[in-house]
Amino acid sequence: MLPDPIQDLIYALERLPGIGPKTASRLAFFLLRAPEDVSSQLAEALADFKTRLAFCQECFNITSAGRERCEICESGQRDAGTICVVEEPLDLLALERIGAYKGKYHVLQGVLSPIEGIGPDDLKIKPLLERIQRGGVQEVILATNPSMEGEATAQYLQPRLHSLGVRVTRLARGLPVGGDLEYADQNTLLRALSGRQEMS
Ligand SMILES: [Zn+2]
Repeated sequence: MLPDPIQDLIYALERLPGIGPKTASRLAFFLLRAPEDVSSQLAEALADFKTRLAFCQECFNITSAGRERCEICESGQRDAGTICVVEEPLDLLALERIGAYKGKYHVLQGVLSPIEGIGPDDLKIKPLLERIQRGGVQEVILATNPSMEGEATAQYLQPRLHSLGVRVTRLARGLPVGGDLEYADQNTLLRALSGRQEMS
């Protein structure tokens, strides 16, 4: 069997999504052979990336530690009357890349998933409803992924948002079903955003 130090590294790498035992072993042996600075740079980045980051207290996007609100929430250039609801910060980044959306965001930090035991209280749903209750919002765009969980989450949110008197829209079909916003090409995403439809 392998010596503990490399076995420990393989176990740690295997826990990452999309990395099986084979890839974990390949990465571990790559690091073993690579110049010292490759593994030390990785170790340093891993050691403090969480302490250097925080979640925006308004929209729950990631921001630098010590900041209460992210750049988008603080920007006076963004339309506070529209909130786009996404699952993860990476979905927000995908929408920002197309450069066509000028409103604000709300990051749920996941989706409803009964199978994985994730319910409404595990997501940033309550803070979203509180944001709407504070007023000033006219439209909420539900931009959860076109997956089963993403659809279920949008269906859960629609009546709750609607009852607060805001217009609720959903990204247009056309995004690959089961796909991730994050991987959609920019034109598809732009069409889905501009063709968004009233949800009822
Ligand atoms: Zn924010």
